[in-house]
Amino acid sequence: MTVDTHDIENIVAQQETWRQTQTINLIASENTPSDAVRKVQCSDFMGRYAEGHPNEPGKVNRYYQGTKYIDQIERMAHDEICELFLAQQADVRPISGNAANTAIALGYLRGGDTVVCNSTDAGGHISHGPVGVIGRRIQNRGQVLKLGTDKSVHLHYLPLTEDHYHVDAQKTIELIDQISPQLVIMGKSLFLFPEPVTEVAAFCKSKGIPLLYDGAHVLGLIAGGQFQDPLHEGATWLTGSTHKTFPGPQRGVILGNLDAEGEKKYWPAADRGVFPGSSSNHHLHTLPALLVAIREMKQYGRDYAAQIVRNAQALGHALDELGTQVEAREFGYTRSHMIAVNVAGWGGGVEVAKRLEESDIILNYNMLPGDSDPRNPSGLRIGVSEMTRFGMDEQAMGELAQLLHEAVRGKSVKEQVNALRGRFTEMKYV
Ligand SMILES: *Cc1c(COP(=O)(O)O)cnc(C)c1O
Repeated sequence: MTVDTHDIENIVAQQETWRQTQTINLIASENTPSDAVRKVQCSDFMGRYAEGHPNEPGKVNRYYQGTKYIDQIERMAHDEICELFLAQQADVRPISGNAANTAIALGYLRGGDTVVCNSTDAGGHISHGPVGVIGRRIQNRGQVLKLGTDKSVHLHYLPLTEDHYHVDAQKTIELIDQISPQLVIMGKSLFLFPEPVTEVAAFCKSKGIPLLYDGAHVLGLIAGGQFQDPLHEGATWLTGSTHKTFPGPQRGVILGNLDAEGEKKYWPAADRGVFPGSSSNHHLHTLPALLVAIREMKQYGRDYAAQIVRNAQALGHALDELGTQVEAREFGYTRSHMIAVNVAGWGGGVEVAKRLEESDIILNYNMLPGDSDPRNPSGLRIGVSEMTRFGMDEQAMGELAQLLHEAVRGKSVKEQVNALRGRFTEMKYV
C-alpha cells in the first residue's frame, strides 16, 4: 500500500494558490522561475551523483560512473553562463549563493586572516559577518574574533559615505593600504547602489589582494547589463544566487574573468572550495533548470532587468509622493531591484511587515542605517523582481504604492491586493 500523502499535497497546493495567484510578493531575494524551468527539475537526476568535473575524451574527471548526460548539461551550463556574463571562468556546481561564498572562504582563507566587508547594518549579508562562514573561517579556535578599525582586528567594515548607502572608495583604499587584508568583499543584501569596484579593485590588484564581489541579489541585473559589471571592473570572483533577480532554480554560481596568471593563482581556490570543500553531489536535478534560465536571460534578460529597475524607481517615487518615507531620495531611491522604506513612525519594521502580510503583501523587515537592534529594525525592504516578471509596469507600481501606503497605516487592503494581483498572473520575459 502506498503511503497517504493527501495532507502533504494539500499544503503544497495551498501554497501554490496563495503565493502564485493571491499575494503580491515583494521579498527582494525571491522570484518565480518560468514553467520551463520548473518542469525540467523533476527528473532522474534528482537521485544521482556527479562529483568532480565532466569527463573528457580520454580523461576521467568523475568519481562515479553513469554521468554522461549530466556531463553534457554541466558543460553546456558552464559555456552558456560564460557567454552570458562574458566570463572566462565559471563554476556552476555551488548549490546556493551562500555555498558559493563558503567555497571561496574554504578555498582561499585561513585562520587568522584579515577580511574587509560590508557590516550587517550597512546591508551586508550574514555570511560575511562574525557568525557567518567568512568570520568563522578566519577565527582560530579559542580566539575572539575582533571587529572594528584597530590594526589587530580580523574583520573590518567597509567605510561608508555620510548618507550610509555608498562605500567610500578613498577611505576604503586607505584602510586596505593600512591593514593589508587577505580578502576584500563587496556586495550586500540591502543593495541599492553599485559599489566602487573599479577604484578599489585596481588598488587591491597593485597589492596582490583578491576582491570577492557577492552578487547574490543583483546577478540578474548584471546579466541584463543594468547594474555594474563587477567582472570587468576588476573583481577576482563574482559569486551569486541563481534565484533572486536571476530567475532560475535555487542554486549558486562562481564566475571569473581572470587572465592565465590570475586563473592559476585564484581559480583553484574556488574549484577546490566547491568540491570537495563545500559540496559532494551538487543537486543535479536543478542544473538543467539553471541552463533553461540562462537561455531565458540571454534572450530576455536585458528587457527584464531594465523594467525591474524602472519599476523599483517608480515605486520609490510614488511612495515618497504619498508621504511614506523612502530612503536615499537624494540619489533617486535606488539603481537596483529594491527600495528601503522607513516605517519607524508606524510601529517599526517587524510590526508593519506582519500587518502587510494580513493584507497578502509579502515582504521583509530590514535594518536601516543607524539601527542597532536587529530585532527592532525601522525599515522594510521592498523588491519588485517577481511582480515585474508577472507583467507589472510603472503604472501598476503607482497602484501598489497606494495600497502599501494605506496598509502601512493599518488599513486592511486584502481585497484590493488580491484584485491587483489577479490582473498579473501571466509570466513575461519567457
Ligand atoms: C541571499 C544572499 C546570499 C545567500 O544566498 P543563498 O542563495 O540564499 O544561499 C549571499 N550573499 C548575499 C549578499 C545575499 O543577499
